Amino acid sequence: MSNPVLPEKILHYIGGKHLPSVDGATFEVAEPVTNRVYAQVAAGGPEDVDRAVEAATAAFETGPWPAMAARARARVLNRIADAIEARGEQIAAMETFDTGLPVTQARGQAARAAENFRFFADMAVTLHEDAFSSPAQLGYVLRKPRGVAGLITPWNTPFMLESWKLAPALAAGCTVVLKPAEWTPLSASLLPEIMAEAGVPDGVFNIVHGIGEVAGAALVMHPGAPLISFTGETTTGQTIMRSAATSLKGLSMELGGKSPCVIFADADLDLAVDSALFGVFSLNGERCTAGSRILAERTVYDSLVSRLGERAERIKVGDPSDPATEIGALVHPEHYDRVLSYVRLGVREGARLVTGGSRPAGLGAGNYLAATVFADVTPSMRIFQEEIFGPVVCVTPFDDEAEAVALANDTRYGLAAYLWTCDLRRAHRVAAAVEAGMTWVNSHNVRDLRTPFGGVKASGLGREGGQHSIDFYTESRIVHVALGDTHVPRFGA
Ligand code: NAD
Repeated sequence: MSNPVLPEKILHYIGGKHLPSVDGATFEVAEPVTNRVYAQVAAGGPEDVDRAVEAATAAFETGPWPAMAARARARVLNRIADAIEARGEQIAAMETFDTGLPVTQARGQAARAAENFRFFADMAVTLHEDAFSSPAQLGYVLRKPRGVAGLITPWNTPFMLESWKLAPALAAGCTVVLKPAEWTPLSASLLPEIMAEAGVPDGVFNIVHGIGEVAGAALVMHPGAPLISFTGETTTGQTIMRSAATSLKGLSMELGGKSPCVIFADADLDLAVDSALFGVFSLNGERCTAGSRILAERTVYDSLVSRLGERAERIKVGDPSDPATEIGALVHPEHYDRVLSYVRLGVREGARLVTGGSRPAGLGAGNYLAATVFADVTPSMRIFQEEIFGPVVCVTPFDDEAEAVALANDTRYGLAAYLWTCDLRRAHRVAAAVEAGMTWVNSHNVRDLRTPFGGVKASGLGREGGQHSIDFYTESRIVHVALGDTHVPRFGA
């Protein structure tokens, strides 16, 4: 893998210009292999957010973007996808350097980012609206982009998640202000040149970097941005919902998870083991949809725990830029300490540490943690209930289907669920009973971009993906037209 070219400074991008903060404030950003600072980043405040929202508002109200023919916008989105593909290696290298994601997985995320733009380019040109016809009246829907969308994104797979919001917002005709996560601003610094090369008019796409509680909060409070699409922790989502209430903003909330992977004894156990391991240890376990609770039928529980432990022990942890690496470095020392504190908590709570739990031998520095498996985890333990967001999995036995469902649902989260069984009727029963926004049966997390993405309970509000994303970034207005004589009650006649 080539080393990424690093900017010394990462600036905001507002109205087509790279700008420092109005007050000159910056913050430092470090990479997770050495935890050395590699750049100074503009730290946005309310005035920077004002400038960005003003630029986006001007581009929305007087620029060509919202009124462009769908095909013309789709061409631009496809050129963005081309530009991302042309830089695929560079994006993957930056993401690996900045987040600690293994490079092979970062390449996949870069490819998915391009696919997000292609997918929403296709959607833009195939959109159609409802019409409601009766002998007396015709109603038809006009769909309008909603204006300036504030996009607030997390540090896990940052480039891909930014694209997952940018593509539908732009396809819908909105203009945007993106606030990337402060721990991982690097790959977003490529977006201005990608957008400009693709022909996105100035002001349509803006970035304000900065600390969440400052720059993010200012964007949420800004009266000029009627929409906030947020992906991040549940507690941050709650804060954002409270602040957004003042201006009645449209909100899309993609939040945390503690998703179950339920393995019945009749499943294809080889495949289930592969999938359970991939589901929690890919992307360093820093994955919202990670199957971080494995629920195993008691008759196969012991053998599954042994198999999971043996395989996890052999997972290659190390330099994220090495193509052989399966788990890289966790994003930030603060996050690393938090994940380690959960490992210590699990031991204190009485869970059985099967493997991992510490820094792998030979990796003296960097935020490295061996793939960690806890068995005999009970629902009263915090490691069963709370999102750890690292390479740590809890395994719990169950005796029958009813208990499997009860355990699966015994958390405040409800993002994803993975079910492994060869009994067709049971698969459908459990899929309907499990409280999850997205359930996969005999499969890992394979996405079809047309389908609704999002969680129930504390995992989110609203859906992204396909038409759901377009619905969020647009508003439908109905026009009623009388087709015959109109009879009106004659008040005061
Ligand atoms: P986070 O909530 O700490 O931060 C996310 C973003 O919000 C960052 O850009 C941050 O700067 C900003 N922010 C923080 N405080 C803010 C505030 N008061 N007002 C406005 N913005 C604020 O989350 P994180 O640690 O970056 O990401 C990890 C979390 O994201 C995990 O909980 C994970 O499950 C979740 N996640 C969910 C999905 C999903 O689709 N459901 C996808 C990826 C990650």
